[in-house]
Amino acid sequence: MMNKEVSNADVPLMASPYDLRVSLGAHVNEGGIRAALESGDSGFVHSFTTGSTVDGPGVRLVAWLTGCQFRCLFCHNPDTWKITNGMPVTVPRAVEVIQQYRHGLRVMKGGLTLSGGEPMVQHRFVLKVFAAARDMGIHTALDTNGFFGDRLSDTDLQACDLVMLSLKALDPDLHRRIAGMDNGPVLAFARRLAALRRPIWLRFLLVPGLTDHAGEITRIAQFAADLGNVERVDVLPFHQMGRFKWDELGMDYELRDTEPPSRAKIEEAIARFRARGLKAF
Ligand code: SF4
Repeated sequence: MMNKEVSNADVPLMASPYDLRVSLGAHVNEGGIRAALESGDSGFVHSFTTGSTVDGPGVRLVAWLTGCQFRCLFCHNPDTWKITNGMPVTVPRAVEVIQQYRHGLRVMKGGLTLSGGEPMVQHRFVLKVFAAARDMGIHTALDTNGFFGDRLSDTDLQACDLVMLSLKALDPDLHRRIAGMDNGPVLAFARRLAALRRPIWLRFLLVPGLTDHAGEITRIAQFAADLGNVERVDVLPFHQMGRFKWDELGMDYELRDTEPPSRAKIEEAIARFRARGLKAF
């Protein structure tokens, strides 16, 4: 069972994903974590943010969930890796937050995005929160690295309006170097979404010296075009806004001296996707 506290009254739910947040769920014991993961009645959330226009269509309410199985070299939120760095939030509490913003989200043709971390670590919580959002007529988007895609049934996937799939690399060795895990399940998930004709927005992080090889980008573009269900590609420039988190957490940050890509490099990458007939930005 979860310890009696299921929310940290003093910790604001709304915060920036760039805030360093640690140990907000440290009072939850292992049994409590397991029970939450198994039931999906509670989740662990780094923060909620509103007003985002880059995390799905329209204006979004975003919940940043904690827990991630990847260890991306370029991660700008390493405080989301550990599930208990997030605050425990019950489904009814999450629904209250959504209800608060429901009118604005509908007027601004936006919706709810569950991101992380990797939200699929807490897939049962994700499904419960999405079901509640859809009952309110709110668009739902899942921002995922795709590795745990098989945790969702085909029916579950029909209930998720959009999958924002973050593809770190197509080359298996490069993917392992970046994320510490294989990309086989990620690619399989993308193909399954294609077979089910569920829309994907592909997200690709452009990191100088790591993911900016022309051949690799072209192959990703070809892969995305072949899927046939990629509605949009976002080329996201690497930045250093998360560097302080690596420092504060005492973690070794390999990319500490890597500069953001130039505008020209970003445009070049976008052009490679567009050359395969994709809408890229
Ligand atoms: S998948 Fe996302 S949250 Fe997880 S390590 Fe990679 S960048 Fe960070």
